[in-house]
Amino acid sequence: MDDIRLAKDDLRHTNQYVEIITNLPIDRTFQYKVTGKESYSPEIGKRVYIPFRNNKRIGYIVAIETAPIVAEPKELIDIIDTRPIFSKDMIDLAQWISKNYFCSWGEALEAMIPSVLKRGKVSSTSRINEYFEKIVSVESHVPNKEQAKILDNIKKCIEAKKHEVFLLHGITGSGKTEIYLQAMEKVLSLGKTGIMLVPEISLTPQTVERFRSRFGDKVAVFHSNMLESARFTECKKIKDGELKIVVGPRSAVFSPFDNLGICIVDEEHEPSYKQEDTPRYHARDVAIERARQANAPVILGSATPALESYYKARVGEYRLAELTQRVKEKALPKVKLVDMRMEFETRVGKKVVSRILEEALKKDIAKKQQALIFLNRRGFATFVLCQKCGYVVKCSKCDSPMVFHQAKKELICHYCNKRSEPLKICPACASESLMYKGTGTEKVETELKKLLPTAIIARMDSDTMSKRGAHARVLGDFKAHKIDIIVGTQMIAKGLDFPKVTQVGVISADANLNLPDFRSGERTFNLITQVAGRAGRGDLGGEVIVQTYTPEHYAVKFAAKHDYIGFYEREIDARRQLFFPPFIGLVKITLRSRNEEKVIGTSERLAEVLRRKMPEYDMLGPAPSPMVKLRGYYRWNILLKIKNRVEAVKTLKHSIKGFRKGSEVFMAVDIDPMSL
Ligand code: ADP
Ligand code: ZN
Ligand code: ZN
Repeated sequence: MDDIRLAKDDLRHTNQYVEIITNLPIDRTFQYKVTGKESYSPEIGKRVYIPFRNNKRIGYIVAIETAPIVAEPKELIDIIDTRPIFSKDMIDLAQWISKNYFCSWGEALEAMIPSVLKRGKVSSTSRINEYFEKIVSVESHVPNKEQAKILDNIKKCIEAKKHEVFLLHGITGSGKTEIYLQAMEKVLSLGKTGIMLVPEISLTPQTVERFRSRFGDKVAVFHSNMLESARFTECKKIKDGELKIVVGPRSAVFSPFDNLGICIVDEEHEPSYKQEDTPRYHARDVAIERARQANAPVILGSATPALESYYKARVGEYRLAELTQRVKEKALPKVKLVDMRMEFETRVGKKVVSRILEEALKKDIAKKQQALIFLNRRGFATFVLCQKCGYVVKCSKCDSPMVFHQAKKELICHYCNKRSEPLKICPACASESLMYKGTGTEKVETELKKLLPTAIIARMDSDTMSKRGAHARVLGDFKAHKIDIIVGTQMIAKGLDFPKVTQVGVISADANLNLPDFRSGERTFNLITQVAGRAGRGDLGGEVIVQTYTPEHYAVKFAAKHDYIGFYEREIDARRQLFFPPFIGLVKITLRSRNEEKVIGTSERLAEVLRRKMPEYDMLGPAPSPMVKLRGYYRWNILLKIKNRVEAVKTLKHSIKGFRKGSEVFMAVDIDPMSL
């Protein structure tokens, strides 16, 4: 054994040095000396054990040198991998992320791999598996004229290895998914690989199924709650070339493919593409960067593109590809707005479901058709108010009203999940005047069961769907028409395609409009459009009823007319005037602490430092965050308006360096935050 080790050593360069990055939030590499006694030879992309501040740490090799750049570099402890776990491209991508978002190179790199590899135990040795192909008989459709033209352009890019971003804008049912599938077929026919991102697997079962049935065992489906060991196995199959396509949520953008032929981002406007922990990347932007590296095209698809994306298409940065009609020639469902202010004035006894919606549902059920009722709030009553003194029962850890859940007979905080007994007496004035107010899905379900005693009604929200398989079971029952009406949260807003759904109801269109966020209009428009898209998918046609207190709001009005462009024109004007994205970028710095005084003091000191060191940047705050208290932490925000992301990240990292925030205060920096 020793002899062999010695012989190997002789063949190696003894004067080799490696540049290492680690997952520490430190923006630099460290040089180590290769001794020749390591288990494997050094290569870029392999993991190593290094001595670091008296500890053993995992690091990643990003460069190999023949001369020391520091005096007497320390020696490596060992090299973990037989072959690299990162390609050069992935290492470059991580560096891109660290320059565009506020994180270190190593933090970005580590986000790309299954966590088992971060602990160093598993070795990434190659595994050769018999590859077998399931015969799939699902044929593709002959593209219609609009699809054909778009596909032609995309295929040309795939063939010519030309990077281009296509913004595929088309209403639901206009044939976007068919374009994804056929672009993927092209990619496979050239021996290349592809990534398809979806907001969440469980919310888009039908899209995923179409990929599975068309590409069989060449497709891996990643879930956000997948076992890490399963992810690890799939990643190995990708590296071994057994899998050619990955369909998955945002982290699937890091699938270790070589020879990438396309990146597709379905529902590209969805906020879930933004990672909310370090590294706080946006998967759409990372997908574009990955495709740029690989000289491959990108398809961003949506019925309601993000304002930022549509703007980029308008100014020519992306290529606009529009599908203007539903494939099967069915018109979009008619949307009726119900002014709930009028409803309340003219109706005895407050009801959650308006008369118009009630009548429509009765007719629908009588005709043996189905309905979806949408409300994006769980629970029964969404807040508990004292009518005598105005006190609202709030979570003791969060600045958020407690929500009453009838099935569980509990008050629950939707932010931290703290639970408490329902109250009868006001904690503030001791009167018995507490009112359970506001409407959640439970209340809608209860009311509908009273209004439609013969209908079979199910509820779909995270309260009823927590059990494994519950989601699939309800959808299966709905498909088999064992259920007439589903009441649900955003779980039912996406992707579902049931031909017998002829009636869709939105209980409250304005829930988002009152949020203090420049995207609240956009969110409202998207939600109504998305929900409306669930109606009239079959031959029976469909109708949508939207209840609202603000029927005059442009987001509601344009959504009712299915007019994305109209909404865009109006919204982009507002953004231009208020100087918000896409006309500038934003950086949100959040400081939090259990100690309120400290967080305020530190925020003010930090703001002072930034004002001095970054005078050319427009700064808002420090100000209390819209959720000023969350899970026991007080939170304050500083907002910067930026022009150039890379430049701003660099300046900010430099300016914050050495800033003493104290051990009780935590800081998070979010580039292009999805909420304020
Ligand atoms: P989107 O993704 O925009 O919602 P899909 O691609 O799902 O649209 O298309 C809607 C429906 O029309 C699907 O059932 C799909 O199979 C079908 N379809 C799409 N393109 C064609 C075509 N060219 N010919 C016939 N049917 C098509
Ligand atoms: Zn009171
Ligand atoms: Zn709470």
